[in-house]
Amino acid sequence: MTSRMIVIGAGLSGLMSALALAEAGLRPLLLAKGYGTTYWTGGTIDLLASRRYPNMPLHTALTHLIVAQPEHPYARMELDGIAAAVDRFRTLTKAAGYPYVGGLERNVVLPTALGALRPTALLPATMAAGDVRLGGEILIAGFHELRDFFPPMAAANLQAQHIPARGVYLTLPDGYQRHDYSPRSFALWFEQPNFRQAIGQQLRTLRGTATRIGLPAVLGLRDPLGVVNDLQQISGAQIFEIPTLPPSVPGMRLMNIFHQAITVAGGRIQIGSEVRRGLGAEGVLTHIFSEAAAREQRHHVAACVLATGGIAGGGISTDFRGTVHETALNLPLHAPESRQAWFASRFLHTEGHPIFSAGVPTDDQFRPLDSTGHVVYANVMVAGSALLAGDPVEDRAVSGLALTTGWHVGTLLATSLPAQLAT
Ligand SMILES: Cc1cc2nc3c(=O)[nH]c(=O)nc-3n(C[C@H](O)[C@H](O)[C@H](O)COP(=O)(O)OP(=O)(O)OC[C@H]3O[C@@H](n4cnc5c(N)ncnc54)[C@H](O)[C@@H]3O)c2cc1C
Repeated sequence: MTSRMIVIGAGLSGLMSALALAEAGLRPLLLAKGYGTTYWTGGTIDLLASRRYPNMPLHTALTHLIVAQPEHPYARMELDGIAAAVDRFRTLTKAAGYPYVGGLERNVVLPTALGALRPTALLPATMAAGDVRLGGEILIAGFHELRDFFPPMAAANLQAQHIPARGVYLTLPDGYQRHDYSPRSFALWFEQPNFRQAIGQQLRTLRGTATRIGLPAVLGLRDPLGVVNDLQQISGAQIFEIPTLPPSVPGMRLMNIFHQAITVAGGRIQIGSEVRRGLGAEGVLTHIFSEAAAREQRHHVAACVLATGGIAGGGISTDFRGTVHETALNLPLHAPESRQAWFASRFLHTEGHPIFSAGVPTDDQFRPLDSTGHVVYANVMVAGSALLAGDPVEDRAVSGLALTTGWHVGTLLATSLPAQLAT
């Protein structure tokens, strides 16, 4: 049987790796237990917003981190590697009609659904007018029927931070009432011209002196930029999306874009395939075994990217005894030694919580290392939240690390393996 390039995990890191491998003609098979955290998160990409490097351009902050932590994945990619991954992501999303803006210059500060402020590096163009530094009054508009988005509360919290804002609820047009409302159903409605026209008219009436209007990030699945432009024309204000609680419509858009790009380039995505173990010989991974209906499925491995995420993604698991383990290949981890050491005493602890720093230690080619510093499998590379990478939560770098290491590892693997292994 032919050996394949395997990517394990369908989060940002796995998708970027699979894209790089597919575009190199290596026909990867991506196996994942389920969709990645893209479906939970807001769709923005945080490269770095650490309190340790305040008030400086993003590329300067990244340079500081690279110098201070030479074993950090960002240091191993260097600024050029980070920029290459960001460029590929931006060209990918632009070609799909869902362009991202931002980059390594500076973080943009966006309002959350609660009216808090959060910095991020890369954001869909549909969120760009939310940059709080643009000034002017903001109108936050939502729907009673869409759960967990409370415009008056978001506006009050923005006001408390000296950002002029008002919050209003919109009325669903006739014919759109139903028993259950999901972000996805709103997204599909916004693709209908009649729905947009009715909502746009309400926004025009309600906007008053506001120059910008924030709506929940449900403005269409296939052409959100078209929806935003249309609503801008009708309402006479700039429109921007604000991420909602899961499920994330921006995450669905991204998944669709990756799915299309990877499969067109010759890759395959198989969701519902949990990898339970691997088999190797002489420092090379030869097989992995995934769950399938009523049996295990065996895959012959040419090379593999482990992109299974951290604790949030299921790639790292814990139990009540304090054991922390890597779920797919049982690779060695760096993790706190006892359960008592997982958390700092306060929730909002300035140094972060040690358990979120758990990860697979790697060499400078992202290959997993054992406790003696030897490479476990020469044909495996690790990307994303499964990596040992300082404290990415505290650094506000989780999604940025996933995006950039995923691309980097995919391209590294594509160029470092003999071509005959990949057919
Ligand atoms: C609610 C929430 C909010 C977040 N907000 C932010 C934020 O604001 N900013 C930020 O930067 N980051 C945020 N994150 C984190 C971040 O977006 C992701 O965790 C990050 O992108 C990690 O991506 P990843 O590719 O490494 O893994 P994930 O996206 O976690 O994907 C892991 C993939 O691996 C699969 N998998 C796991 N184990 C196995 C196995 N044994 N076999 C097969 N497949 C397996 C999973 O099914 C999944 O497809 C948030 C996360 C969550 C959960």
